[in-house]
Amino acid sequence: MGENHTGSCLCGAVRFTTRGALRGVVYCHCSQCRKQTGHFVAATSSRDADIDIEGADALAWYGASDIAKRGFCRSCGSVLFWKHNELDTISIMAGSFDKPTGLSAESHIFVGDKGDYYAIDDGLPQFDKSTPSIKVAIE
Ligand SMILES: [Zn+2]
Ligand SMILES: [Zn+2]
Repeated sequence: MGENHTGSCLCGAVRFTTRGALRGVVYCHCSQCRKQTGHFVAATSSRDADIDIEGADALAWYGASDIAKRGFCRSCGSVLFWKHNELDTISIMAGSFDKPTGLSAESHIFVGDKGDYYAIDDGLPQFDKSTPSIKVAIE
């Protein structure tokens, strides 16, 4: 697929381009994602080899666990990436993409840990923790 997509943080210091088809968007409701973003995470995923990141010096990484780290812009604070330490893939926040994103939502994970002030009623599959196909930081 010759499908390229671009995105950036709010201030534009960090920009990225992805090549090829992207995974469906997964919503993660775990407490780490909720605390970092202020709500919950909506992320697609790419192979490391299929993304170019510009302005990496503006990108800060926070290791919220021993298993993964979270990338954000040190100037504007935008949450951009989630990276498992041992996988060759990178999760990219759906909201950071320029439109048209070509993305569509796929499922909810860690709904057992979701915030208590909102409902999930979009009819997509919900998983109490992770799914067999999606590796995440906490089980
Ligand atoms: Zn920024
Ligand atoms: Zn999460």
